[in-house]
Order: sequence, then C-alpha cells, then structure tokens
Amino acid sequence: GLATASVTRRQLADCMVQDCMAARNDRERWLPKVVLSSNGQGIALAGRDPAFAGAMAQADIIHADGMPVVLASRLTRHPLPERIATTDFFHDAAHAAERHGLRFYILGAKEQQNRAAVEAIQRLYPKVEIVGSRDGYFASDQDDAVCEEIRRSRADVLWVALGKPRQEYWAIRNRRNLQGVGWIKTCGGLYAFLAG
Ligand code: UDP
Repeated sequence: GLATASVTRRQLADCMVQDCMAARNDRERWLPKVVLSSNGQGIALAGRDPAFAGAMAQADIIHADGMPVVLASRLTRHPLPERIATTDFFHDAAHAAERHGLRFYILGAKEQQNRAAVEAIQRLYPKVEIVGSRDGYFASDQDDAVCEEIRRSRADVLWVALGKPRQEYWAIRNRRNLQGVGWIKTCGGLYAFLAG
C-alpha cells in the first residue's frame, strides 16, 4: 500500500514552513517536496493503473484526504491521527504563509476560476503574497516555460490543480525543473471551492 503521512493538519503546515525555509537556504540545489493526497478514488485508480501507482509512490508526503482512508488505517498498526482534506489544509497553510512570509503560486483550473481563486485568497489572507498564477489548460510542450516562470516568481509553495491524475503526473515529472520551490501541493477542486 501507499505510505500515508501520520500527521495532523497543524504538523503538516509546520512541515511545509520548514521545507520552504530549507529551500530558501539552498535555492540552487533544493528540489521541491511533492505532497499528494489519497482518497478512495485515488486508491482505486492506483490499484488498476500501475503508472499512477508509480507516480504516487514517488511522492514525499501523502496525506489522507478521505475518511475511509483514515478508518481503514485504524485496522492496521499505523493508524492515522486525522483526515486532512486539502480544502481544510489550505487554510492552515495560508495562516502559516502569512506568519512566515511564504509566497504562493496558483496553477491550474480555467482562467476565470483561477482568477476568482486568487481574488478569494487575497481577500481571506491579505498578507499572503501570490507571486504568480496561470490556468491549467496548457500542453505538455509548455511545461518548461511554465516551470521557468514559476522558478522566476520565487514561489515557496506551488499549488497545482490539474485534476486527478494529471496533477500527480505533472508534479512528479516537473519537480526536477522547479529548483528552489519548497513544496508542490496538488489541490484538485480547491479553486472551485475557494471561488465559491
Ligand atoms: N483542470 C485543469 N486542467 C486540466 C484538467 C483539469 O486545470 O487539464 C482543473 C479543473 O479546471 C479543476 C481542477 O483541475 O479546477 C480539478 O478538476 P477535477 O475536479 O476534475 O479533479 P479532481 O478534484 O478529481 O482532482
């Protein structure tokens, strides 16, 4: 099975801050940690698609974004302390970003939804610096240009909403091209949720 991080939301946010600070101290060499989440849909997909399972296995951290995953873990010797929905974690991350001056890059979704999400984040967390954003409907031959723009933005946390499984593949494939970014966090339907 996939190793899921046995952490609380608060600990995950602390971990994000530490990694972003480490990235700032070693920009040239640091490669982002890839932080994915697992839910029933993702586990089912990993079960029938070895390529997707292989991508998930390359994550640095996987958190349980689904109560069934948490309940199943209680049948093992490694019970998870809690479910961490990305839509909840986002708020812990944004609070931490305000306190520590972390910069966000908002990647993915249709242009209008992306813009609405950026506006919502700025309204809710005026002290979070959003250093860049772009929609998620580009071809893979644009990946290098997208990564270059993200590196130049000096983003600490790259939020990636490209839908499952594209966002997981994208994060794993492009991390080597994102030196200096602290974390790549996949976030599925987050922008729709924030845009309300
Ligand atoms: N999305 C995107 N590019 C794509 C496919 C999807 O930017 O090529 C965006 C989509 O607009 C939505 C987000 O990814 O904002 C999440 O999509 P979905 O809800 O289908 O994915 P899931 O929540 O299942 O990961």
